[in-house]
Amino acid sequence: MPHVKLHIPGPVEVSEKTFKAFCSPMIGHRGQGFKDLYAKIQPQLQQLLYTKQLVYLSTSSAWGVMEGSVRNLVHKKVLNCMCGAFSDKWFDVSKKCGKSAEALQVEWGSPIRAELIDAKLATGEFDALTLIHNETSTGVMSPLCEIAALKKKYPDVMFIVDAVSSLTALPIKFDELGIDVLLAGTQKAFALPPGLAVFAASPAALAKAATTKDRGYYFDFVEFQKNAEQSMTPSTPSIGHVYALSSKLDDFFAEGLEARFARHAKTNQLTRDWAAKHGFNLFPEKGYESVTLTCVSNGARPGGRTVDVAKLQKLVKDQGFLIDGGYGKIKGTTFRLSNMGDETEATMNQLYVALDQAMAQL
Ligand SMILES: *Cc1c(COP(=O)(O)O)cnc(C)c1O
Repeated sequence: MPHVKLHIPGPVEVSEKTFKAFCSPMIGHRGQGFKDLYAKIQPQLQQLLYTKQLVYLSTSSAWGVMEGSVRNLVHKKVLNCMCGAFSDKWFDVSKKCGKSAEALQVEWGSPIRAELIDAKLATGEFDALTLIHNETSTGVMSPLCEIAALKKKYPDVMFIVDAVSSLTALPIKFDELGIDVLLAGTQKAFALPPGLAVFAASPAALAKAATTKDRGYYFDFVEFQKNAEQSMTPSTPSIGHVYALSSKLDDFFAEGLEARFARHAKTNQLTRDWAAKHGFNLFPEKGYESVTLTCVSNGARPGGRTVDVAKLQKLVKDQGFLIDGGYGKIKGTTFRLSNMGDETEATMNQLYVALDQAMAQL
């Protein structure tokens, strides 16, 4: 079967170099070889997250750490900021963990605004909030800096931030923002195979976790910190992933973070231009569009072009590219094109050519 190149917003295309690194010969996770490997990537991860805190490696998808954050850090009540499929689900997950939780729901396509959070936190009911920086289902990026600025006003509230589809595509300065948890699965913006997540926790989050009785074992933040201090993980990690991450981090710094950020901005703009050229509107509220994927309106917003999305997908797939036909309740009334990971102007242009040819047949 010929490979169909992934332009869905996760998992994304994985390079041959990354796969080669993934297939490095196995080593023991308590031996010096692993410790050296983790110690080598730790400063790179810290630079990527703009933090002095240790960055942890979790052998899980992002949801493991998303659930773990709730289990470690919510004592009183958590405010789940909801603007799409992933952030909406975090509310359900909080309740499934037995936590008292409240939904701060905005319409899909809109961002979470700082004023909304401020009004909720002012009640004094909450000791934690969850926020998805880049809501992958709607292609909306919420204003993280403005939201994080609230931490000064509510120092006892744990700010838990998912940057699954944005971390590495633009600067997210963990220490400077003052947030408490920053997490990312690595099959999206990192362009690794699925199965690994990275995260950092603030000193306040670690102190609070230590006082949480029912935080469990697999995602116990205190265990992650204790082990990371020895360049280890609490349980046996997916060692192939750690090799792949090491190779990827070398790629990031060879390119340079600034150049990487600029590349994402550029390729994303080209995708927006492609949509405009064909008469489509974008789904996100203006000014809050993601830089790693484009959620194109196909009738979800008034006006603009509409096409048979299933047909578009098929015509593009026949040319070797997989695009996404919309997520959850906006399936078919939107479609999504990803520029995450290793994509360049040249590789994105190949996608636009295939899309143009498909459009000509619709
Ligand atoms: C994909 C995604 C998740 C879930 O990731 P899993 O790897 O399936 O656990 C969570 N948040 C965001 C923003 C995502 O894009």
